[in-house]
Amino acid sequence: MTVFTHPEFDHHEHLTFCCDPETGLRAIIAVHNTSRGPALGGCRMFPYASDEDALNDVLRLSRGMTYKSALANLNLGGGKSVIIGDPRQHKTEALLESMGRFLEQLGGLYIAAEDSGTSVADLKVMGRQTSNVAGISDRPGFDGKPSNGDPSPATAWGTFVGLQAAVKHKLGRSDLEGLTVAVQGIGNVGYRLARHLKEAGAKLWVYDIHQDQMDRAVAELGATPATADEILYLPVDVVAPCAMGAVLNDHSINKLQATIVAGAANNQLASPAHDEVLWKRSVLYAPDFVINAGGIIDVYYERTGPDPEAVRQHVNTIGHTLEEIFQRSDRDGLPTGQIADRLAEERFRRKSR
Ligand code: NAD
Repeated sequence: MTVFTHPEFDHHEHLTFCCDPETGLRAIIAVHNTSRGPALGGCRMFPYASDEDALNDVLRLSRGMTYKSALANLNLGGGKSVIIGDPRQHKTEALLESMGRFLEQLGGLYIAAEDSGTSVADLKVMGRQTSNVAGISDRPGFDGKPSNGDPSPATAWGTFVGLQAAVKHKLGRSDLEGLTVAVQGIGNVGYRLARHLKEAGAKLWVYDIHQDQMDRAVAELGATPATADEILYLPVDVVAPCAMGAVLNDHSINKLQATIVAGAANNQLASPAHDEVLWKRSVLYAPDFVINAGGIIDVYYERTGPDPEAVRQHVNTIGHTLEEIFQRSDRDGLPTGQIADRLAEERFRRKSR
C-alpha cells in the first residue's frame, strides 16, 4: 500500500492509522486541509474488503470535505475517518470509546460526525473520551422542532434553495408553480425536499425502493409514483437524485430529458468526467457537494451555539454560491463541477509545501 503516491493523495496534512488490538479497532483518520479551521467530517464504519479500499475512501472523502466546507463559507477544514468493520457485527462500546481516545489524541485537529454505519448514539459513546465529536446535542432543530442533531432538515432546505437557483438560472423563473420535478429517494432528505417543492406549487414524481415511503409521498404530497427504470428519464424540468451515488453515468446522462439536475445525494457523478458530459448536453448540474451542504452548516452551528435563524440564513447562501458557479460556468465555458472546485480552491489556502 502506498500513501504519498496514492492516486487519491492530495497533500493531505495528516493521516493517522488507529489500531487497538484490545477492542479490535482498526481505523484511519485523514485530515486533508485545516487552513480554514479544524477538519470536520463523518466517521464511517464499513466492512471494507481491504485496507487499500479503506485508505482510498478516507483520502477521497476527506478532500471532498475541504471543498464542501470552503464552498459553504464555514471556518472548517476537511477531514474524514473510517472504521474498518461491519457495524452490525463489530461495533461495541469499547471499540467506539477507543476511537474516541484516538480522536482526543489529535487535539481538535479533526472533529468526527455521523456517517454511514455510525449514529448519534455511537458518536455520544465516542464523546465519553473526547469533545471532538459533533452532531450529538439535543437542541432546537433547524425546522424549530426538537432535534437530536439530525442535519436532514437543513440539508433538504439547502437543496430546495439550490434547486430554486438552478431553475432561475436555466429557465429564467423565480416561482416554482407548475414546475415538474422527479425525486429519486424519498428518505430523510428527499421527503422533506419534496414537501418544500409541493408547498411551492411544483408537480412531483417520486420513486423509492421502499413502498411505504412511496405511499406516504403519494398520500401526503399528491406525488405521482414512478418506477425505478423511469424516474431519472421522465420529461420533467428537474431531476433530484436523493438516494445513492453514481446515478449520473454514461448510460443515464444520454437518456435524461430534464435540463436541470439538482439533488442531495452524495457523489452523483460516476466519474469527474461526467460533469463535462452533462455540460455538453446542456444539462445544468448543481454540484452535489455545494447543494447538499445544509447538513454540515447545521452541524457547524451546533459547535458555535444553537441558532436556527442563523443556520437558515447561512443555508440560504447555498443559492448565492450556486448562482455564482452557474454564471462563471457560462462566462468561462467550463462545466459547473470544475468551476465549483476552482471556487473552493480560491477559498481555502493550500499550506506551503
Ligand atoms: P435516507 O437513507 O434517509 O434516504 C435515502 C432513501 O433512498 C431511502 O428512502 C431509500 O429507501 C432510498 N433508496 C435507496 N436506494 C434507492 C434506489 N436505488 N432508488 C430509489 N430510492 C432508493 O438518506 P438521506 O439522509 O435522506 O440521504 C439521502 C442522500 O443525501 C444520500 O446520498 C446522502 O449521502 C446525501 N446527504 C444527506 C445528508 C443529510 O443531512 N442526511 C447530507 C448531505 C448529503
